[in-house]
Amino acid sequence: MKVYQNYPLKDLNAFKVEVKTKYFVVISNSKDLKVLKPYAKEKIYILGNGTNTLFTKNFDGVVAKINIKGIKIKSENKNTVKIQVGSGENWHEFVTWAVEHNFGGTENLALIPGQVGSSPIQNIGAYGTELSQILDSLKTYEIETDKERTFTKYECGFSYRNSIFKHELKNKFIITSVTFILTKNPVFDISYTSPYDSLSRELENSSTKPYTIKDVYDSVVKIRKRKFPDWIKLGTAGSFFLNPMVNKKKLSEIKAKYPDMQIFYASNGEKIKLPAGWLLEQIGWGARRIGNVGTFDYRGQALVVVNYGGATPQEILSFTQQMQKDFYSHFDIRLEPEVNIV
Ligand SMILES: Cc1cc2nc3c(=O)[nH]c(=O)nc-3n(C[C@H](O)[C@H](O)[C@H](O)COP(=O)(O)OP(=O)(O)OC[C@H]3O[C@@H](n4cnc5c(N)ncnc54)[C@H](O)[C@@H]3O)c2cc1C
Repeated sequence: MKVYQNYPLKDLNAFKVEVKTKYFVVISNSKDLKVLKPYAKEKIYILGNGTNTLFTKNFDGVVAKINIKGIKIKSENKNTVKIQVGSGENWHEFVTWAVEHNFGGTENLALIPGQVGSSPIQNIGAYGTELSQILDSLKTYEIETDKERTFTKYECGFSYRNSIFKHELKNKFIITSVTFILTKNPVFDISYTSPYDSLSRELENSSTKPYTIKDVYDSVVKIRKRKFPDWIKLGTAGSFFLNPMVNKKKLSEIKAKYPDMQIFYASNGEKIKLPAGWLLEQIGWGARRIGNVGTFDYRGQALVVVNYGGATPQEILSFTQQMQKDFYSHFDIRLEPEVNIV
């Protein structure tokens, strides 16, 4: 397998910033993984489609682009099916495959960019569904020990846009495949609604009851095509920041000023998730542009930061730091990046 040197990453990161990496390898199978062992002490960055990554400078280490393919049905019964998917498969193509086979569970996560192997890292989520709801287990390769290890769903430490691989085990384990449990008798969650979009309304307008998996998938795709820029054309990593979680006291402070604010309860009911994009819009960050960087011009989407062409990583960082500062001065809450800043 070839190890490239001084390799350009512009076409491999969704912000389309012009940076290079000292070494670059493409991992297509388990034999290729071994090439990383001698680099275990170097800096390593495991790369999928780069749609949740902002490179801020040239990378002084090894970028390992994951390209492990394959979709295999491992077992099935009357109600469910277990499917093992190579980490280099494209996420949306896998969702489309599942929908075509009439397997339910992934449809609310349609059109999220990126690869299957990256999907557990931040427990991708959209329209009321999180990856952890359909994940069974995943296989990994530990670079330092040169050993394989399987993690059950419970060992992945999933929470809102988070897993053990996003922090403690970051860049130590390469996810080689993910096994999902999908259902043959889906119960749809179409409850998602925001001040601007509603999944059930979208379905009512375009399909007739009883809805099929394909109807839900099509509606999610339609909403997402409106709400997000086409990341193939415009540089973006989607939401730049996480929605902050606050306690009830903080919530009532903010609600007093913004009574129309929509909120979401965390699964344990203790913390409340605030709509950061909506709040940013209230303080003047909707469709705001500074030079080549701006927030996306769609209502409620001020969390989506866009490189409108030719922005340097420093311009993008400085723009997002201004957003953070302004948010903090209005709400006394620090926005945490969702994007991996490298
Ligand atoms: C327009 C747009 C909309 C988006 N909408 C959503 C959304 O609705 N919900 C959501 O959750 N996300 C969303 N995202 C973010 C992004 O799509 C997801 O985080 C996606 O999972 C990133 O996949 P990737 O392959 O591009 O990851 P990359 O950016 O390549 O990598 C992300 C992280 O995963 C690690 N990684 C990648 N592959 C592996 C592997 N095989 N093993 C171990 N670590 C690995 C990387 O080191 C990095 O830390 C959006 C992004 C864009 C551009």
